Amino acid sequence: MGRIVGIDLGTTNAVVAVLEAGRPLVVANAEGSRTTPSVVGYTKDSELLVGQLARRQLVLNPRNTFANLKRFVGRVWDELEDSSLAVPYTVRANAEGNVRIPCPVTEREYAPEELVASIIRKLVDDAATYLGEPVDAAVVTVPAYFNDSQRQATRDAGRLAGINVERILNEPTAAALAYGFDRTSARRVLVFDLGGGTFDVSLMRIANGVFDVKATSGDTQLGGNDFDQRIVDWLAEAFKRENSIDLRRDRQALQRLTEAAEKAKQELSGVQSTPLSLPFIATGPDGPLHIETTLDRSTFEGLCPDLLDRLMTPVQSALRDSGWSAEDVDDVVLVGGSTRMPMVQQLLRTLIPRDPCQSVNPDEVVAVGAAIQAGILTGELRDLMLNDVTPLSLGLETVGGLMKVLIPRNSPIPVRQSDVFSTSQANQASVDIHVWQGERQLAADNKSLGRFRLSGIPPAPRGVPQVQVAFDIDANGLLQVSATDRTTGRKQSVNIQGGSNLNEEEIKALLAEAEAKADEDRRRRASIDRRNSALTLVAQAERRLRDAALELGPYGAERQQRAVEMAMRDVQDLLEQNDLQELELGVASLQEALFGLNRRLSSERRTDASPLQGIRNTLGSLKDELFSDEDWDDDPWESPSRLSDSRPNMRRRDMNSWDDDFYR
Ligand code: AMP
Repeated sequence: MGRIVGIDLGTTNAVVAVLEAGRPLVVANAEGSRTTPSVVGYTKDSELLVGQLARRQLVLNPRNTFANLKRFVGRVWDELEDSSLAVPYTVRANAEGNVRIPCPVTEREYAPEELVASIIRKLVDDAATYLGEPVDAAVVTVPAYFNDSQRQATRDAGRLAGINVERILNEPTAAALAYGFDRTSARRVLVFDLGGGTFDVSLMRIANGVFDVKATSGDTQLGGNDFDQRIVDWLAEAFKRENSIDLRRDRQALQRLTEAAEKAKQELSGVQSTPLSLPFIATGPDGPLHIETTLDRSTFEGLCPDLLDRLMTPVQSALRDSGWSAEDVDDVVLVGGSTRMPMVQQLLRTLIPRDPCQSVNPDEVVAVGAAIQAGILTGELRDLMLNDVTPLSLGLETVGGLMKVLIPRNSPIPVRQSDVFSTSQANQASVDIHVWQGERQLAADNKSLGRFRLSGIPPAPRGVPQVQVAFDIDANGLLQVSATDRTTGRKQSVNIQGGSNLNEEEIKALLAEAEAKADEDRRRRASIDRRNSALTLVAQAERRLRDAALELGPYGAERQQRAVEMAMRDVQDLLEQNDLQELELGVASLQEALFGLNRRLSSERRTDASPLQGIRNTLGSLKDELFSDEDWDDDPWESPSRLSDSRPNMRRRDMNSWDDDFYR
């Protein structure tokens, strides 16, 4: 098995980690950061941007820049909450009720999974660059509370990114793996994971490398974004009261408000009060309008009591399901940036009387755990074993719309469970199997994962045919359902895809499109890279010319300077004409010319270490041009009009003092 990386695909940030010599290691991205913003965007030229570059254009290009995509992954339109839809880009439902994100600049609609695939691709590319070898597989983490559709959709995103998702791993379980990796003593651990958009709680027992998840619970629509939104609303409402303008209707203003709100929220984790300044946020009848205000921690906390309440329920429910009391928990591990909020930590302390463990980095621990899981899969790490659970009950709809649970929540996975059902009417030739996931008694109140029909049942009185329905959940938490008519042996089995935003045909079509376009993309990429490196070289040449003029004077290395100037101008012209073939030759000539100039510069430096030799040379050249040697050496007072009255003195004294300054 080749290299498998671990990917934490967070709502706000994503992280990739690898195993190096048996130790997990977070990989810095191409920009040098250990976390990559989970943002995808297109420039006005339809160039794809991912991560920090995309994040940078959030305010200026809000309609073509997409953040918080995880909240849409594997969800159908009807399930979305208003708070998820409060984004500055457009989100809409297609004819099938699936979520689509139109991008004006590319004139295309994307499924959320497609955009998320670009983030995965970047992480994998960055890891491959670091490792110096291709990466084609990954362990991808998801919130433990993700349902089957969301897991399927995450796996689809991996496929669209061109990698094998070897394992879908629950985020809190990953965090526990990282936490328990080096520990030998038996511990009962509560992982409290509040990220940008999702919330998970898991209780597990760790002993001698065996990780047993006992219970998990959470809310996939609750995270740091909701806290930001409260500040956005607070600012927007106050502004509306004063100016009768709703800033939330202006995409750019909304994006600026969101960024300022998130920054203020983060600052309030460390200080009691923080200023918020948003100049020129709108224009009123009397000119530009600004926001200048201060938010203090207690006001902020007063905006979020219901969000805190929503954090309590899953902790209590996981404790109940595990059969543990709060006192049984030995360690509390905090995961996700939002756990830095003092109100969150206080609330948790009222539920579990333990100080949280500070030894893990809440931003990186999930990716580290994913890399450890990758090591378990490749066999590199041997003495670890992971026993996870399924977060939500799975069942069928039976007569009267009731939910018949086949696999209760928190069942250890992988698991197989089956039951026998019959017909409700005489001579019924087929039965509809409708699969649901959730905890409510009525099937319709839960999440529909899909339905299929088992037909060809021989005529028989009501209740006689025996249809065996089996549910299989694999180690990824993914479900497969089969139904067998026991009389005929007829069997039908399906991979459930009910809520996924892309069906199999669409995925295949997108993969085919990606393959067909791979050459075009590569060419495009290569041309962008070529242009960028030419631009970099031109900037370098400009700098070297400036250095040369300073160190050697404008004509100190005339031949080499001219060569660089000419080659640079050629490259600039070719860039303008967009002639990429010739550009390559131009770049080669410029590199050669720069090499010549650099060599000349370094040989000059060797013979004269003074960095101000250039100025001397400049003055020297001027002198040559303006005066004869005798003039220069003559008594300056004789020719007051020529340079300066105190020219020789100035030359000696000031140059010496500049030299000193230079080296100080
Ligand atoms: P994650 O998904 O773990 O990267 O968490 C991202 C979320 O954590 C975002 O909503 C951030 O605004 C939030 N966050 C990061 N640092 C802080 C902080 N110091 N205080 C409050 N929230 C934070």
